[in-house]
Amino acid sequence: MTGYNIATEKEISEGLASDVYFQRSLSASGSEASDRVKAEVTVSGPLDTWVNFSGLDEVIHLLRGKNLDVYAIPEGTILPPRDSTGTPVPFLRVEGPYSSFGNLETAILGFICQASGISTYSAKIRRELGDTPFFSFGIRRMHPAISPMIDRSAYIGGADGVSGILGGRVTGTDPIGTMPHALALLMGDRKAWDLTVRSAAPGKKTVLIDTFMDEKFAAIEAASTIPDLDFIRVDTPSSRRGNFAALIREIRWELDLRGYGHVKIMASGGLRLENLRELKEAGVAAFGIGTSISSARPFDFAMDIVEVNGEPLTKRGKFSGAKQVLRCERCYSTIAVPLGEDVKTCQCGGNMTPVMQQYLKSGEPLGKYPSPSQIRKHTLQELEKLEKVPVL
Ligand SMILES: [Zn+2]
Repeated sequence: MTGYNIATEKEISEGLASDVYFQRSLSASGSEASDRVKAEVTVSGPLDTWVNFSGLDEVIHLLRGKNLDVYAIPEGTILPPRDSTGTPVPFLRVEGPYSSFGNLETAILGFICQASGISTYSAKIRRELGDTPFFSFGIRRMHPAISPMIDRSAYIGGADGVSGILGGRVTGTDPIGTMPHALALLMGDRKAWDLTVRSAAPGKKTVLIDTFMDEKFAAIEAASTIPDLDFIRVDTPSSRRGNFAALIREIRWELDLRGYGHVKIMASGGLRLENLRELKEAGVAAFGIGTSISSARPFDFAMDIVEVNGEPLTKRGKFSGAKQVLRCERCYSTIAVPLGEDVKTCQCGGNMTPVMQQYLKSGEPLGKYPSPSQIRKHTLQELEKLEKVPVL
């Protein structure tokens, strides 16, 4: 067979991108399938990390127009998988006839598991780097069909920009790119550098320096011959890397010594969360981060019925009854309580406010969905709260 191995939007909406057992059991069952249920989505794992929730936009798109009420944690919100008493925190609740969404469970979970994994990893990078910029460079490691989702999730988590053209479109940002090694291989460093800086916007003149030469001498040559150069990008292959932070320190030293303090260093290539602090301290002023973002571990979100025809009912190992998530405005302590239970005051004396919001009423959207830049801003505010009171 030739062609792309992807599901079309229509196939996803019709439940064909789902595990077959949902479809089989729905078509084999009788009138029970149209019973009114409430189903909740909670995290099964990993449990030792907070979640920067994302991917909800596609869930809403999928369930829109169906006879369903949908409640969820807003994208960009940071919550622990379990509340302060150990109760699983619901991130999404769908209410309505089971037959209206049962066969879409696979797609619903797929949207949020992967996106939230990526946005959470990105938010951890944001937290680690503070104000130092980083960009999502990882779409080449994943199927191109999902590149907009990867870039959107990375951006929502706090990335300053994305490399993909479609990612730029979906996030409403100018895609970020410097120059590929291919350009230097085709025309040599000198011509490739000149061409790159000629077409770059002010403040973004960046040349790649590791194609042919030693990084230190190439950096000095680029800085001394290109007026107003902003960045040199170091993408040293892992086989030549040795101590990457030491290499960065050496380049920084040599540039500073010659009066090129304005030429900043951007690093890319195989970077992971745990490498970033050392590299930043060594003098990296901007990061291009690829595979570790795009391949971030997905969250194991699971969907379970918690109520059937108004009665609490769920499987073993789960907590029955619909729940609301409340968070203290002062200490950010989170609790999941039975829906309708009114807890106004936290133990610390702060106000408890509901975090879950309704997004669809009988399939109709309530209000305008926030833009990726608004959601990203929400993430940044959530990270500030995290600095004051870690939720984990
Ligand atoms: Zn409190």
